Amino acid sequence: MSAASRGLGPGATIGVLGGGQLGRMMAVVARQMGYRIIVLDPSPRCPTAQVSDGVVVGALDDVEAAKHLASQVDVITLDTEHVPAEVLSVLEAIVPVRPNAAVLRTIQDRLVQKQFLDRIGLPQAAWAPVDDVDAALAKVGRPAILKVRRAGYDGKGQVRIAPGDDAVALLGRLRGEPAVAEEVVGFTREISVILARGLDGQIQIYPVAENVHRHHILHTTRAPAPMPEARRRQAEAMAVSVAEALGHVGVMAVEMFELADGRLLINEIAPRTHNSGHYTYGACATSQFEQHIRAVCGVPLGDPRPLTGAVMVNLIGDLWGQAGQSGQGGTGGPGGQGSLGEQRPPAWGEVLARPEARLHLYGKDAPAPGRKMGHVLLLDDDTERALATAESLIAALRSRS
Ligand code: ADP
Ligand code: MG
Repeated sequence: MSAASRGLGPGATIGVLGGGQLGRMMAVVARQMGYRIIVLDPSPRCPTAQVSDGVVVGALDDVEAAKHLASQVDVITLDTEHVPAEVLSVLEAIVPVRPNAAVLRTIQDRLVQKQFLDRIGLPQAAWAPVDDVDAALAKVGRPAILKVRRAGYDGKGQVRIAPGDDAVALLGRLRGEPAVAEEVVGFTREISVILARGLDGQIQIYPVAENVHRHHILHTTRAPAPMPEARRRQAEAMAVSVAEALGHVGVMAVEMFELADGRLLINEIAPRTHNSGHYTYGACATSQFEQHIRAVCGVPLGDPRPLTGAVMVNLIGDLWGQAGQSGQGGTGGPGGQGSLGEQRPPAWGEVLARPEARLHLYGKDAPAPGRKMGHVLLLDDDTERALATAESLIAALRSRS
């Protein structure tokens, strides 16, 4: 009750730092509920701005632009964990920021995140800071993965070191960015737990998701993940421990590796809505986006109950035919660099013809290899069949692009 009476009801204005697809879907449901949304992003045409009440144009580390946003909103949240915690600290003096700067400080640096997981006693892959790369590899063994401490996503800022590789040369690919080393985990499966934690500490958990990555980018999610009850409860308990130890407010995703002997290791934590939780928008009574809005506004959380089984498949920029020059893979940068030439969107006929399929496109005007452009959600209690459907739709889209 107390949280509800403190809460920001519909009519309030929510500020979002970062204007990607997560902010976009958050904005759609927020406006459906009667909230107003203003986004901070370098591009006035970003996916979130297209569906928002207003946009402040500025970089995510531009303190003056962020303060300008703060002066117009009742609460601030984010669609990316890569907003500098120092900026959030400044904003906290003006308006509530959820999740807060302390949560982001722990999460946005992989080294600090790993120290945090060690401190609260949760299992993860063997890791070591990379001061001297050979010393780090001596600790974690080979094969290993080097990951930049900050600002990596979709496998960007990662290099794999095989037993015979020259580690110093490969480290050079990270361009001098501080990094951590991790053992390569021989997992049997990847899963994620999406939960929401309210301002009053209430927690709601979604069905565990099973994730398949291709080239380090999420390819499919299936939910609920078929798994023994006891293991599911363990995964949920690990995610709850993370959220509580952080004092997180909002939706959070905890990515895990499942091992052949049933053990679970935490891969990484995202203090926000997550790609592997897209299935909730369509398959659950309350989507992760509505849940996040409810949590950060301090109103009661919704019912996360699944209404159906579901499979989500990501639509990557590679599906957009390039009439001109093909771009360089993995160069990152949301700015559309490497997207010369005319892009032909895939033909959506087969997706639109399937009654169980929901098409989401993010409004990005520069498809590039490796860039997430949208996703298809298949609502089907037979998730094996839905996984097969997802592959056949992707094959059809690829052949027509
Ligand atoms: P991000 O999602 O931020 O790009 P991740 O650390 O989650 O970075 O890595 C992306 C994917 O790469 C993981 O989902 C997994 O498939 C693979 N991966 C990452 N770390 C390891 C590891 N230590 N062992 C095996 N596979 C890994
Ligand atoms: Mg990840």
